[in-house]
Amino acid sequence: DSQPSGPTSGTARSASLFERAQAVTPGGVNSPVRAFNAVGGTPRFIRSARGAWLTDVDGNEYVDLICSWGPMLLGHGHPEVQAAVAAAVARGTSYGTPTEPEVELAEEIVARTPVDRVRFVSSGTEATMSAIRLARGFTGRDVVLKFAGCYHGHVDSLLASAGSGLATFAVPGTPGVPESSTALTLVLPYNDRAAVEKAFAEHGERIACLITEAAPGNMGVVPPEPGFNAFLAETCARHGALFISDEVMTGFRAGRLGQWGLDGAREGWRPDLMTFGKVMGGGFPAAAFGGRADVMSRLAPEGPVYQAGTLSGNPIATTAGLTTLRLATDEVYAHIDAAGETIKAAAAAALSEAGVPHVVQSTGTMFSVFFTDPADGPVRDFADASRTDSIAFAAFFHAMLDRRVYLPPSAYEAWFLSSAHDDRAVQTVLDALPEAAEAAAR
Ligand code: PLP
Repeated sequence: DSQPSGPTSGTARSASLFERAQAVTPGGVNSPVRAFNAVGGTPRFIRSARGAWLTDVDGNEYVDLICSWGPMLLGHGHPEVQAAVAAAVARGTSYGTPTEPEVELAEEIVARTPVDRVRFVSSGTEATMSAIRLARGFTGRDVVLKFAGCYHGHVDSLLASAGSGLATFAVPGTPGVPESSTALTLVLPYNDRAAVEKAFAEHGERIACLITEAAPGNMGVVPPEPGFNAFLAETCARHGALFISDEVMTGFRAGRLGQWGLDGAREGWRPDLMTFGKVMGGGFPAAAFGGRADVMSRLAPEGPVYQAGTLSGNPIATTAGLTTLRLATDEVYAHIDAAGETIKAAAAAALSEAGVPHVVQSTGTMFSVFFTDPADGPVRDFADASRTDSIAFAAFFHAMLDRRVYLPPSAYEAWFLSSAHDDRAVQTVLDALPEAAEAAAR
C-alpha cells in the first residue's frame, strides 16, 4: 500500500468546487482560515481521510498537518472510534434527554483534569462565552481581562483589540461587535506580568475573570514563561477574580493532562474554570467548560446563571470524544512528541541551510515554526509574532503542498500531528522540507 509520490495531479475539481462554493457561501468556506487568503491559491476540497493522510477530490494525497485544527489526535478513521460512533448512530443520533455517554465523558474529563464538574456545549466559542458569563454571575463583577493574540473563539466581548493604553478598555476587533461589547474587556500583552499587575491595580474590584489560552497556540505556539500561569492564578485569587484557563486547543493535546499537566499539576495550583474542545470531541462538535464545584453550582438548573444547548452533550459527539480520550494513552503522546521532534529538527535544519530566518517554539507535544528573525529573540507575545515574514511562509506553504504536505494555511498556527503519523508520513514531510525552505528563501 505505497503512497503516491511526486508532484500532485492537478486541482481542477477543487477549483471548480471552490467556484461553486463562493457563489453560495461567503469566501467559499465555513471558517475563514480554510480559504487560503493568507497564502493565496485554491483550498483543496477533501473527499476522505485515513490515518495521517488526506485525499482531495482530484485524488491527490497529502500528509495532514492540520488534523482538523487539533481534534484528530488519533488520526483519521481510527477503527475503534469509528466502530463506537457507528454503534451510537445505530441507536439514534439525538434525543434531547440525558444519556450515559455524557456522564462517562464528564467522568473521564473530571478524572484527567483539575475540574470538579463540567457542562458540555457544541463549540469552543460556546465554552469560553459560557465560562465568562458564569464568572460574571459568580463574582457579580463585569470586567474581563484577555491577552492580545489569544483566540477564544468568536465571542463578541473577546473579539477585541487593545485600547490606546495598557489599562484602557478595548475596542472592537471586527465590524459587527458594538463598542459596548468590548467596553468591559481589557487586552494585555502576553507574558507581561507588569501589565497584569497594573490592570488589577487600576480595575481590581471590577475584574470578574482573566481568560488566557493555557499556552497560546493561535499566534503560533507561544509558551507561557516559567511560572506565568501560576502568577496569573495567584493574582486572580488575590483580587477575588476567577482564572479561566482555555485549553480548547492544548487540552488532551499538549500532553495527556493538557498544558495544566505541564505547569499546574507540577506547581500545585489549578484554574477556577477551564474550557475544552477539539480532542475531547473526537472530530465531532463537542466542547466543555468546567471548574470548581462552588462556581459550577451557580449554573442553571442548579443555580441562577442561565446556559443551555439543543445539541449539548450529543450522544454521537460524546461517544467519539470518550472513545478518543480512552485511547489517548501515554504512548500516543510519546509517539506524537517523537514525530514532532523529528519534524522540528528537520524544519530548522532545512530553513537554516536555505538561509531563512526562523524560530521554532513548542509546549509539550505542540509546536510551530515562526518565520521571524532569531536575532529578535523568542516570540513572547503578539507583537513578536506579528514580525512573521508571511510572504516567505506563503512560498514555503505552497512548496510543501506541492510535495504532498498539507500545513495549516496560516503562518500563525501550530503544526498538528497524530498517533497515525508513522515513519512514512514523517518521511514525506522530511523529503519536502529542503525544497520548500529553498522556495521560502527566494
Ligand atoms: N479557544 C481556543 C484556544 C481555540 O483554539 C479555539 C479554536 O480554535 C476556540 C477557543 C474556539 O473553538 P471553536 O472553533 O470550536 O468555537
